[in-house]
Amino acid sequence: MPPTFAQLGVPESICRALERNGIHKPFEIQAAVIADAMDGRDICGRAPTGSGKTLAFGIPLIADVGQARPRRPRALILSPTRELADQIASELRSISGPITVEAVYGGVGYTNQRKQLQKGVDILVACPGRLEDLINQRAVSLHETDQVVIDEADRMADMGFLPAVRRILDQTNSERQTVMFSATLDNDVAKLTRDYQHRPVTHEVGDATPDVRSADHRFWTVEKTERVDVCANVISTAGPTIVFCRTRHGSDRLARQLSQRGVNAAAIHGGHAQNRRTRTLREFTDGRVEALIATDVAARGIHVDSVACVIHFDPPEDHKAYLHRSGRTARAGQTGLVVSLVQNGQHADAKKVQQRLGLLQPITSPDSIDGHTAPSRPHRPHHPRPEGRDKQKPNSKPQGRDKQKPNSKPKGRGNQSGRQGQNRNGQRSNHRPQGRPQQQKGRKPRSRASSR
Ligand code: ADP
Ligand code: MG
Repeated sequence: MPPTFAQLGVPESICRALERNGIHKPFEIQAAVIADAMDGRDICGRAPTGSGKTLAFGIPLIADVGQARPRRPRALILSPTRELADQIASELRSISGPITVEAVYGGVGYTNQRKQLQKGVDILVACPGRLEDLINQRAVSLHETDQVVIDEADRMADMGFLPAVRRILDQTNSERQTVMFSATLDNDVAKLTRDYQHRPVTHEVGDATPDVRSADHRFWTVEKTERVDVCANVISTAGPTIVFCRTRHGSDRLARQLSQRGVNAAAIHGGHAQNRRTRTLREFTDGRVEALIATDVAARGIHVDSVACVIHFDPPEDHKAYLHRSGRTARAGQTGLVVSLVQNGQHADAKKVQQRLGLLQPITSPDSIDGHTAPSRPHRPHHPRPEGRDKQKPNSKPQGRDKQKPNSKPKGRGNQSGRQGQNRNGQRSNHRPQGRPQQQKGRKPRSRASSR
């Protein structure tokens, strides 16, 4: 029997918030990670997309995070993309009670972000570039940040963010807890672990090549001129679809061409202003837009319920990109369709991708996808911030936080007592606590030199 959230030591108020969101039992990666994370261990995690990693790192943060002083967040979650940062922040806010969670990323103005930071943000979700800008402007300091999560570390590496991630980690509390999630744990990600994690526990869930078997993969030979029509047919049969294009220009053009064929399509890529990207994503989530035409930047980390289909309109760069793109469908145990449009001259590359992933289906002319009719979209609940939070007086905060405490002490988690002590009695002042209890027990402070 898998444990319940309560058995993993998750405070009752968080369990209740999860229940309200329809989340009753931990997914596998959550069952594996939550107890270790709440014990203060460094964690190196790998699990397929859609397996629930956000709550795996988010629940322990919410249960444990210290109270932030102005401009000094206590926990930091690094995200490679703005969309993912927003999604993480809103998912965590839906269960965070009085704990403040804010996201900062580029492409939007600084004023609001600076204002939020000035108020004090307990858990900051950030994209590396904007975070460094805000640090340089002295709008935020990481010296009191003692919990760090690096989400989608391999994507950070792909996007060239690792030097920034390292500079950022160097500014956090050297005794911090560092939790990292990645679709792959080799190469640059392994180096990050070596340099910045302290005796991490590794949790790997699922195959090293995730998601491949849960979707129905089709490879179709098409003429360049047929692609738009084929694409339009698939979308109208399959339902909510993400179509991947190589360039921003190509995505804009395809969105236009599909619209001309009666498909409600919208492009989403880094060339659009952030508020436009957010709006487009929302329209897709709501079902107002049937097809999202995306570049690879949008490939990772965006979770939208019930994406029925992924179309590789332009071929992926390699098998890894194929996985990341395809992972937008068939998430969390659902089925999904993945269609690759293969033009003359692209067969050899397509076969290479197939071989790397063990997808041995033939490349055929477009066939029937009748089995894949559009699923109904479940309504995704909107999670407003708890009312009146902004109006809370600073000294009412510890009281509110007490509600997060578990009513009964979970059994078999000896190491927890210290942490609860830190959170208990509302005694945390607005000053930095003496360090995390588990660090006092087991974690040796690392010297700056050794973490470079
Ligand atoms: P990942 O980061 O691993 O790709 P997410 O954290 O985005 O996956 O989770 C995918 C979806 O599953 C989200 O909509 C999330 O709310 C949902 N989810 C997460 N954990 C659970 C759970 N224990 N039970 C039901 N749904 C869950
Ligand atoms: Mg994720």
